[in-house]
Amino acid sequence: MALTSTPEVRTTKPAPVTAARESDAAASPARPRASLFENVIHQFNKAADLMGLDANIRKILSKPQNEISVNFPVKMDNGRVEVFTGYRVQHNSALGPFKGGLRYHPSVDIDEVRALAAWMTWKTALTNIPFGGAKGGIQLEPWKYSPDELQRITRRFTYALGENIGPEYDIPAPDVNTNPQIMAWILDTYLSTIPPHLRQGCTHVVTGKPVVSGGSLGRDKATGQGIVFLIEQWAKDKGLTLSNLTYTIQGFGNVGSWAARLLKQLGARMIAVEDHTGAIAEAAGIDPDALADYVRIKGGVRGYESATAIDRVALFRMKADIFIPAAMESQVTAATAPMLEVHLVAEGANGPTDPEGDAILQQRGIDVLPDFLCNSGGVIVSYFEWLQNKRSEYWDLEEVDHKLRKKILGAYRSVRETAAEFKTDWRTAAYIVALRHIAIVYNERGIFP
Ligand code: GLU
Repeated sequence: MALTSTPEVRTTKPAPVTAARESDAAASPARPRASLFENVIHQFNKAADLMGLDANIRKILSKPQNEISVNFPVKMDNGRVEVFTGYRVQHNSALGPFKGGLRYHPSVDIDEVRALAAWMTWKTALTNIPFGGAKGGIQLEPWKYSPDELQRITRRFTYALGENIGPEYDIPAPDVNTNPQIMAWILDTYLSTIPPHLRQGCTHVVTGKPVVSGGSLGRDKATGQGIVFLIEQWAKDKGLTLSNLTYTIQGFGNVGSWAARLLKQLGARMIAVEDHTGAIAEAAGIDPDALADYVRIKGGVRGYESATAIDRVALFRMKADIFIPAAMESQVTAATAPMLEVHLVAEGANGPTDPEGDAILQQRGIDVLPDFLCNSGGVIVSYFEWLQNKRSEYWDLEEVDHKLRKKILGAYRSVRETAAEFKTDWRTAAYIVALRHIAIVYNERGIFP
């Protein structure tokens, strides 16, 4: 599979985005990036206080269990060697093996990975799948490397991680700028390092694989599909009809483009999109399928002929029913939250709203489908893939979609009920559901010795 044909990995350098980047600066206050892990702890403490979480369990969950950092050399196409830094943070395994994606992005550092790993712990606990939480990645600009170089980087990273990953121990998956092809390389490298007689039983060392290499039908669209199941339910609860609704979206990679293509089938209208190359708008609606074809060729939404270029601030200010942040962290902030003219923020990304932005959304009465509920479709179908591999089964798409819908709507209902029970916001309620689950396990098992 050619890397360039998949939307998740951008092997082309993004077009210069001076206009959009200048607006970035206008939209975000000029201060160094706050610690993402501190944001997680802020959210966590709010829920822990409200539910009266046991002080010992609070202490345990406030720190990741393990942090692995590796520096590894890779030969480039020109014969030179580059040394890369990769991370795997294993936040918690009380409920099962560590689980979470690998991200290839220049922003990857230990603080970001710690935060993303903790969100995975809450995500698996909330959705009631038998996994813990982890995350990893490599700090690099993936568009600077050829497919061959990316393959060698991936294989050498897998080798460097060694026994820190494993099918019953820690199971990576795709995340920002990683895709099924990269998962296939991880699988092949991992299997090559273990004894031959164990190899066939270890294909579940990684999920989000290409289907013929042991992946699951429906995994590719799973995160977007989960978002759409939830938006559908939210609209139903509000007495709204999806075919009358408009939305704006930030990020048009795997998550954003799938959410948009599935929302199109339900009649909702996408009126503005932003990605790393720029932002575009069209009041009559932008066709997500045509845009996805365009992005596959051009590497981004910039220049799409059936819409008008806008700046990033205009995207935040655009009146719509729903805003779907499906890109990076800390986008809805003290600077941008007051601009939003929407009824719902459906968080496709991990951590798109920082604590200040969150407080403003709440004050303004804007509903939020919090990240570790809203984007949990990906890991839910990863769990289905893991089960299929263990049982040597292939499920059909209807079965995968049906089970995903049941699981994610189950989590939605728990959050809705808990928000009512504690008279709190949905993010805090989602934490309470997840933390209750983990707390029961700690209470039953106790602390060794
Ligand atoms: N990277 C995805 C997430 O943030 C998927 C993780 C997985 O499937 O393990 O949820």
